Amino acid sequence: MAPKKTAKRAKPAKKATRKTAKRAPKKAAAKNVKYVYSFGKQTDGDATMRELLGGKGANLAEMAKIGLPVPPGFTITTDVCTYYYANGRTYPTTLQKEMEEAVAKMEKQMGTKFGATDGMPLLVAVRSGARDSMPGMMDTILNLGLNDASVEALTKATDNPRFAWDCYRRFIQMYGDVVLGVQKAEGEDVEPFEGVIEHYKHEVYGEDIIDSSLTAEDQQELVKRFKALVKERTGQGFPEDPWDQLRGAAGAVFGSWMNDRAIVYRQKYGIPSEWGTAVNVQAMVFGNTGETSGSGVAFTRNPANGANEFYGEFLVNAQGEDVVAGVRTPEPVAKLKDVMPKSYAELLKVRKKLEKHFRDVQDVEFTIQEGKLYMLQTRNGKRTAAAALKFAVDMVKEKLITWETAVLRNPADQLDQLLAPIFDTAEVKKAKVLSTGLPAGPGAAAGKIYFNAERAVDAAKKNEKVLLVRVETSPEDLRGMIAADGILTARGGVSSHAALVARQMGKVCVCGASALQINYDDKTLTVGKNVFHEGDFLSIDGTTGDVFAGKIETAPSEIIDGLINGKKTAQKTEKYESYMQLMEWCSKATRMDVRTNADTPEQTKNAIAFGASGIGLTRTEHMFFEGDRIDAMREMILADTLEDRQKALKKLLPYQRKDFAGIFRALKGLPATIRLLDPPLHEFLPHTKEQQMDLARTLDIKVEKIMQRVAELHEFNPMLGFRGCRLAICYPEIAEMQARAIFEAAAQVTKKGIPAKPEVMVPLVGFKKELDEQVAIIKRVAAEVEEKKGVKLDYTVGTMIEVPRGALTADQIAETAEFFSFGTNDLTQTTLGMSRDDTGSFLGAYQEKEILTANPFASIDQTGVGQLVKIAIEKGRATRPNIKLGICGEHGGDPASVKFCHNAGLSYVSCSPFRVPVARLAAAQAAILEKRAAKAAKKAAKKK
Ligand code: ADP
Ligand code: MG
Ligand code: MG
Repeated sequence: MAPKKTAKRAKPAKKATRKTAKRAPKKAAAKNVKYVYSFGKQTDGDATMRELLGGKGANLAEMAKIGLPVPPGFTITTDVCTYYYANGRTYPTTLQKEMEEAVAKMEKQMGTKFGATDGMPLLVAVRSGARDSMPGMMDTILNLGLNDASVEALTKATDNPRFAWDCYRRFIQMYGDVVLGVQKAEGEDVEPFEGVIEHYKHEVYGEDIIDSSLTAEDQQELVKRFKALVKERTGQGFPEDPWDQLRGAAGAVFGSWMNDRAIVYRQKYGIPSEWGTAVNVQAMVFGNTGETSGSGVAFTRNPANGANEFYGEFLVNAQGEDVVAGVRTPEPVAKLKDVMPKSYAELLKVRKKLEKHFRDVQDVEFTIQEGKLYMLQTRNGKRTAAAALKFAVDMVKEKLITWETAVLRNPADQLDQLLAPIFDTAEVKKAKVLSTGLPAGPGAAAGKIYFNAERAVDAAKKNEKVLLVRVETSPEDLRGMIAADGILTARGGVSSHAALVARQMGKVCVCGASALQINYDDKTLTVGKNVFHEGDFLSIDGTTGDVFAGKIETAPSEIIDGLINGKKTAQKTEKYESYMQLMEWCSKATRMDVRTNADTPEQTKNAIAFGASGIGLTRTEHMFFEGDRIDAMREMILADTLEDRQKALKKLLPYQRKDFAGIFRALKGLPATIRLLDPPLHEFLPHTKEQQMDLARTLDIKVEKIMQRVAELHEFNPMLGFRGCRLAICYPEIAEMQARAIFEAAAQVTKKGIPAKPEVMVPLVGFKKELDEQVAIIKRVAAEVEEKKGVKLDYTVGTMIEVPRGALTADQIAETAEFFSFGTNDLTQTTLGMSRDDTGSFLGAYQEKEILTANPFASIDQTGVGQLVKIAIEKGRATRPNIKLGICGEHGGDPASVKFCHNAGLSYVSCSPFRVPVARLAAAQAAILEKRAAKAAKKAAKKK
């Protein structure tokens, strides 16, 4: 009956309060600060004021400004939230007076009075509103202003006692829960208010009748019992004074900014806690007055697949929260055409106006009161990557946006959703459809089913593929949803909590699969005669809504199939064509190249299909592990004399040459940065006794010798040990062999008419002399090969910048190096003094305490590591103005890091093949944003 979005009462968040307190002025200058912004007939704010008014408040103001039917109200600014936490949860002294003035304006426009005991009372909704919407995190209170006297006035004014008491009953329930904290205690199964209702129904009707058949008298009695419950639980009476109610509700909204779930959400999306939330107070309009009223939510276009169709749902005779609560199953919004044709026509006009004004797809909330339409909210609609792509391409065609804007509208970190696998069509035909729900988050997922978030998280930790299966989800399930590969619910529509969150996280989701019967106690899922237990496999298709028994194999997406596999049918799909269009725009905008990290011809080919313009990093050590090469490698490591070492290296040379030739052929003339041997040698030796015995037999040497060498090579800090160029400083013959393999392969391929462009890269250089030594060898070998093969080689020699000393002495190093490639993995390790593989034990705590906002090995630490990069760029260019600069760490595929690289002036980033599209998009976006910023700056300068 009641909205599901009950919230835990905000725990006093001491930590956070202290933190905010430091930043905010102790007593904010109360005098000239405006804390309250009205909207309605007279509107103070607009859409640009998100920081101050929050997203909801700013857009309510904007809608009011462009003449849409918005019930009047006001927004209490985020400044008040900051003040509230900085001053021991108190308010600025001028706030009350400003609120009174704003309420007076509402009263005037509505012709009602706040707390009226005679005539129509003004009821208000108290709504939170952070800068960015945080689904399900904040708590809305409806029908505020009612008390024992004003409910009588409402009854009289509307001549509808059932409606009036229904409002009052809902209000006490919401307020009791959210503000007064009357909630399910440990061990209690039912929400206390729900318990009262259930008990009452059985007592009076002997069964669990539906809510809408409760009479006015029933509601009246429930109000009485609710109040008794509040008294019993809190020791205090329910507040009768509307102003007390209003202040209490606003306090609860500010308080909920620091509740556990809000904190978890902010952490996941990197929203700083000091932003704060605004509070919106708005005149109530009523969707629950009867059959000519209703409430709904809609997207101006389909946010799952991007289709240009009005998409959403509504409920007749309902207050807004009922729609998203998943209690009654709503009707598709198109049906409104039959039920309330006039309101529907008006809604369609609003749809058009909104898109034209905001130039983006909108997610709206509306209520119809006795045939009259009111808009309660609009925001840019959350969308899947597939929808984002189609919106962008379509809106360019419709001339609503430019192609540059279209590029910006595709979130780079979501793009890989488009590349995600789909179910194999042949497999799907064979599979058994158990049920079909609503397709709420596209893609294909197969996994073991888990019925609660905690167990889903545990299973995911064990690397299981997980489907979280719930009757419906609530914000408490957030952790489980993050851990799961797919989400399946039995109840709830396309705007339910599960659908909303899944779309945002890019999770596969099927919701409202009503044939599923879930028993949490037995941990079973029953569909007809089939019973599934926790841990059994199911497969869900979030594009069609189908739920299948068992595990279905997945197949590549059309984009992968078209690009990598060259499938003609895939290339004709709209998705493929739109993707290609987007990438064409990216090429047009970008300044940076995107290269790839690849060690094989196969990987190279894939990356080029994705648009890579070369290889930024080939790790040669990967080539030493295959087949019997590893034996030759080990022989080299175990050799006692230079002669023996050279003998072993000679065996390795043909392998390497072949590998390089394959890569050069796949590159068809694009450049390849090839890194000389980097890892510590002990990584190549066997460590178990058994393996050591095997090797001894193969090489025909004593096992003791191997054991001794393993012991010799043991290091306390291998990451900082005998590795990188240090290997070839001690054993120059290794560099010599590798250089020979590279150049002979290049010569071979060049002779066949394919240009080869090796860029030989020396790793882990901290001293110019280290590099000098290696370069001398490399150049000598190159000359020898040129002479012997009669080919002119097209090559360069450079280094990785991956230790701080290398960055700090980049001016010296650039005297020898023709290029720098920032090895940001090691540079992060050595700058932070943190071993990447050992951060597991403390990284969580660091992020929780916001010492680090992101994992520095995933997204570059711009302030620290970034500074070294900038220093190296500056110093490198001072010595060699045309020095080529790139990055080859994992960061090359992270959108924020790519943007950093663009702004730092690098000429390319390099990332794993399947991240190339993401990096291309991020690089293009960085270029467009830079251009826009420059334009804006120029305009601002002109104004001055
Ligand atoms: P959320 O951020 O969770 O969407 P909202 O503040 O938008 O919370 O409120 C939730 C629902 O409450 C809305 O969808 C709407 O139906 C209802 N509601 C909010 N304000 C009003 C209002 N002024 N009149 C009637 N219903 C409202
Ligand atoms: Mg809310
Ligand atoms: Mg809303």
